[in-house]
Amino acid sequence: METSNLVTVSLVVTTAILIITPFFVTPKVKDSKRKKKNISSKEKETKTYTFGLINQGNNICFLNSVLQSLASLKSFRKYLEKKVENEPIIAERPVTVALHATLERLNEPLTKQQSFIATDVVWALQANARRLINRQQQDAHELFQFLFQSLGAEEDHSRRPKSLFDSELIRKMAAKIDKITNFVNDRNPLRGLTAYRVSCMKCGYCGPIRHTTFDNISIPLPSGLPSVPLDVLLRTYAGTDFIDEYNCPHCSLVETLAAIEKKLEVEKDAGKLENDRQVIKKALATDVDTDISGLLQLTKLVHVKNTASKVTMFAKLPDVFSIHFSRSIYYQSGFTFKNSCKVKFSETIDMMKYISGGYLANMPTGVGASCGEDPSVEGENIYKLKSVIVHQGDHKSGHFITYRRKEESDNWWRLSDEYVEEVKLKQVLNEEAYMLFYEKVQQ
Ligand SMILES: [Zn+2]
Repeated sequence: METSNLVTVSLVVTTAILIITPFFVTPKVKDSKRKKKNISSKEKETKTYTFGLINQGNNICFLNSVLQSLASLKSFRKYLEKKVENEPIIAERPVTVALHATLERLNEPLTKQQSFIATDVVWALQANARRLINRQQQDAHELFQFLFQSLGAEEDHSRRPKSLFDSELIRKMAAKIDKITNFVNDRNPLRGLTAYRVSCMKCGYCGPIRHTTFDNISIPLPSGLPSVPLDVLLRTYAGTDFIDEYNCPHCSLVETLAAIEKKLEVEKDAGKLENDRQVIKKALATDVDTDISGLLQLTKLVHVKNTASKVTMFAKLPDVFSIHFSRSIYYQSGFTFKNSCKVKFSETIDMMKYISGGYLANMPTGVGASCGEDPSVEGENIYKLKSVIVHQGDHKSGHFITYRRKEESDNWWRLSDEYVEEVKLKQVLNEEAYMLFYEKVQQ
């Protein structure tokens, strides 16, 4: 990750999709919270309904929970709609088209409770994965990653020129040199950008800023704690880490220069060595990151490795901030357990305190630059909770359900496959969250 400016994390993660076996899903888990209530006739008149998703023997509650969650995200639905309208060749984007139709259907107002099977999405994903989506080793987060990898692949495909004569598209692609400008335009609302910068603990040299894209962030939970606030997890994620064996370019130049000067004390014909000394002195005075290996006539650069600090921050927040909590604890004996640490999350979060806000960008490059100060940020970046995926049960068996915010209401839907129930926010906030979806409040 340190060498490339833009790395799509999800692509790396999803290649492991067939290997990881996180939470198993049992075929028929009884829904303990399902109750039959007596509804008064007045309530019946004002009562609204939403679609449930049938889990027809295929054991696809993990898929149903992800679809219900995504259905709560207005900006994501808008993005899909734009994709479907602007690029009408359906055969090239089966997942985008199927997902768009399914999420729109899940938002249709109903006068009575109904359910359907998300067949279109299942087929499109299965064709993409060349395998069945109904196996037991499926997990909502893996499915989410695979879904976004598929959407990304379809997006890349539609950007590719159809032939060498598609000069308009080739010209457009050539013009998009700046990856970050390209990133900001026409992006998936779940896609964000993190920035990080490494600093040598010995000499204080700050390396250049690097960027990494993400569709969701995955945070491991501390083991042995009954609960942890989301704020603490986000501060730890977007904070300072330490790297051993960091190859510091500044320390390397200083050490190489010292070696040359020692040789010069005894060297008679010093022409080439003197050249090398001047090259290194110039690099130290101007830019230590310049590649000078071609300019050195006699000397080989010494590589000095020190401990370094790495500061990570959100450089560009997505419109939808999706967080996954990694709840698997692996023991050396081969056993895996579910970490039941409860994340204390709230209805809204202000992401301003976790973003770089120009702090990393404005940091001076070079020796003596301070990399450890707090960024001074102003303003707000408020995100509102839209859906929560919960895994019930232990590591070996269980069931995925979703809580989804009800449109134009303070109430929520509790969706367990085809079983739909209206609940209060308090119940949602009390759950052991597996994935959270926050959407930016438009100001
Ligand atoms: Zn250094």
